Amino acid sequence: MSALGEKGHVFVVAAPSGTGKTTLCARLLEEDPGLTLSVSHTTRDPREGEENGVHYHFVDEEAFLALVREDGFLEHAMYNGNNYGTSFAAIRAPLGNGRDVVLEIEVQGAEQVRESMEEAILIFLLPPDLVVLEERLRGRATDSDAVIAKRLAIVDRELAAARFFDFAVVNDDLEIAVRQVLDVINAIRNGEREKAESEHGRAQVLAAWEASQPGR
Ligand code: 5GP
Repeated sequence: MSALGEKGHVFVVAAPSGTGKTTLCARLLEEDPGLTLSVSHTTRDPREGEENGVHYHFVDEEAFLALVREDGFLEHAMYNGNNYGTSFAAIRAPLGNGRDVVLEIEVQGAEQVRESMEEAILIFLLPPDLVVLEERLRGRATDSDAVIAKRLAIVDRELAAARFFDFAVVNDDLEIAVRQVLDVINAIRNGEREKAESEHGRAQVLAAWEASQPGR
């Protein structure tokens, strides 16, 4: 049971922009009915097809800052000029019902979860390589060049934050990555953390990944 008195586990999935964590998290939820995706608050405008309360709680800055002042957020961060945050309200009910919650968030928020919720399990998703990452960022049709340039500029900082994480998985083949993240989740549920660490521990996965990067 966590410090908040809940029964479920909190799994944080974070990654440098463009690593494909949204797609991966969607697949995790399809594969594992015991998982609930936390619905974040954001001040950014909805994109086409996004629904309030489903993809995000879309709020204005005033409402967001009011929640910050009330200590309503487990974590919150500024990303590309917009606020994003995981409210306690978003995770309390599913955790209390014994469900495991997945937070799909950027790395500054994950660092805050590390500090405030020791028992949370942090999983870092790595791109296969930095050249592919750049291609993916350029290929996202909904974003302007300025947004892409900003995202590339913060990739290095995002990679540096990997050291706060418990586990790492390389998202080269999506289905293999999904399987590996589910391996970690199931090991934690079964009290087999050491087994998961021996296969997907952050230090060793990161060292192998860094060694495979040209020019690093
Ligand atoms: P997007 O605007 O593309 O939906 O999300 C931008 C970034 O914000 C993504 O990396 C996404 O994972 C992250 N994000 C979404 N919700 C939250 C949240 O509640 N907290 C934090 N820290 N990041 C979030």
